[in-house]
Amino acid sequence: MLCKDCGICCFKTEMLITDDDIKIILNNYNAPLKVDDFTFKNEDGYWQLKNVNKHCYFFDEKTKLCSIYKFRPEGCRYYPLIYLEDIGICSLDTDCPRRNNFYLDWRERRRTSEKLMKYLKKYNFIK
Ligand code: SF4
Ligand code: SF4
Repeated sequence: MLCKDCGICCFKTEMLITDDDIKIILNNYNAPLKVDDFTFKNEDGYWQLKNVNKHCYFFDEKTKLCSIYKFRPEGCRYYPLIYLEDIGICSLDTDCPRRNNFYLDWRERRRTSEKLMKYLKKYNFIK
């Protein structure tokens, strides 16, 4: 989903990323970059995007856009569709002010929810 709207989702991000995401970012970033610059292992042992100045390392303060948009992590691509672990369903994040503009077609939303669940299971983010 293409979104260059408000950038709220890139502030105080808690987005988990995978080893595959890390490889893709390192292979495509157009400046020297170390893994520790943009990610850290959280208390559950997952890689998580690092915040700098309260926003994701890759959020460009000048343009207000993601600087790695074309090769951003897979989890960022599903957003604002997220998985609500406590109730076990995919839903649009209420933190996104434009959430009702996304996934207007219920078939597309169902397909993407299934993809999101598959991705989360593949990387053991959920059981
Ligand atoms: S996905 Fe939502 S929170 Fe993120 S930039 Fe777009 S409108 Fe803003
Ligand atoms: S990688 Fe890009 S889209 Fe994802 S949180 Fe960071 S700035 Fe936002």
